[in-house]
Amino acid sequence: MFLPSPWRQFFPGILAFAEQQQVWLDSAATAQKPLAMITALSDYYQHGVANVHRAQHQPGERATRAFEAARSSIASWLHAGTEDAVIFTKGSTEGLNLLSQALAHNLHSGDEILISAYEHHANLLPWQQLALARGLTLKILPMDANGHLDIEQAIAQLSSRSRILALSTLSNVVGHRQSVAKLLSAARQAGVWTVIDGAQAAVHARPNLQQLDCDFFVCSAHKLYGPDGVGVLFVRERALAALRHWQFGGEMVRHCDYQHAEFLPAPLGFEPGTPSTANIIAFAATLTWLQSLDSHAIANHETALHKALLAGLQERGMDIIGAPNCALVSFNAPQVHHADLAALLGEQGVAVRAGHHCAMPLLQSLGLPGALRVSLAMYNNGEDLQRFFSALDQALEILQ
Ligand code: PLP
Repeated sequence: MFLPSPWRQFFPGILAFAEQQQVWLDSAATAQKPLAMITALSDYYQHGVANVHRAQHQPGERATRAFEAARSSIASWLHAGTEDAVIFTKGSTEGLNLLSQALAHNLHSGDEILISAYEHHANLLPWQQLALARGLTLKILPMDANGHLDIEQAIAQLSSRSRILALSTLSNVVGHRQSVAKLLSAARQAGVWTVIDGAQAAVHARPNLQQLDCDFFVCSAHKLYGPDGVGVLFVRERALAALRHWQFGGEMVRHCDYQHAEFLPAPLGFEPGTPSTANIIAFAATLTWLQSLDSHAIANHETALHKALLAGLQERGMDIIGAPNCALVSFNAPQVHHADLAALLGEQGVAVRAGHHCAMPLLQSLGLPGALRVSLAMYNNGEDLQRFFSALDQALEILQ
């Protein structure tokens, strides 16, 4: 299996793991970091820090300039329009919670929120809790036998009470890149707000938010080779007015007195408190570095790895969840508990994920207590897969 990765050398964490005989096949949980990001983070701290948007002194102005430049370059990476807002959050989870609270005032008992059957808890629980609190209906859009969203059935579920459609375009369990353009367009025509959870999808193809006609989009830096604790919520200009401010604190008001406040518009009105300045600047540096790479070569490499992974699992008679076509494969070994298998892989230095993958209802609907998941990134190579398969073979010899 000769599949070398020319990008491996840029990831010190992966090189350190290699010395420890450790194989990282859990990038869908979090990705290792490139030198470009580590250097940007350390550079920011080395040059002295200051709060942004607060101070008149030079360090404060410098930090604010760098922070806003980071916002612009992240917006440009997302292909956001100039009037759209890029709001910094702690991650996709916070972005989705923000939306569920900031949109709540528009919703009335009997209104509907639609999500797919394969959503991560981050794109289920905020809507579920909102529905419970407000007497809304949470409609679950069905999947077909391959674990793909059934687009025609989803369109048929839109009704005059539908208000929000929230979907992931790459499931962290099924690993299928889902085309949603037709559904988004039907939702838009029906006056439904559309939310895209790009936590997984953005990692494997740069988003083009002018083409993907959604109202809201979230992603997480740490899955995108960036730092922890930073995410982005994109809001299209037409949807900005629907959002009500949701958290309150410093640097978000135009004016306030003891009894009233007049809030700033997005993005600052939705970013109270001191932001994660260093991480945001380092995230922008990560995306700039990503843009300097050959994205087609990366996509081809990841596709070749994914095919080899899928073929090796099929050859060994593993039960694969759905029909994955991107980045990851979830599976079970017949008659083996996923936790036993993961433990034996872990003992052999192979890091994969096992459990319900924060998609408990999906696994329940498949009648599974859990599954293993192998997930790939640009730094993985054929040798990683060989190590995985030989560890798998050894573990199966013991367990089956
Ligand atoms: N959505 C999907 C599809 C995910 O896979 C994840 C994390 O695994 C999330 C949302 C939540 O991301 P975060 O934990 O970075 O907020």
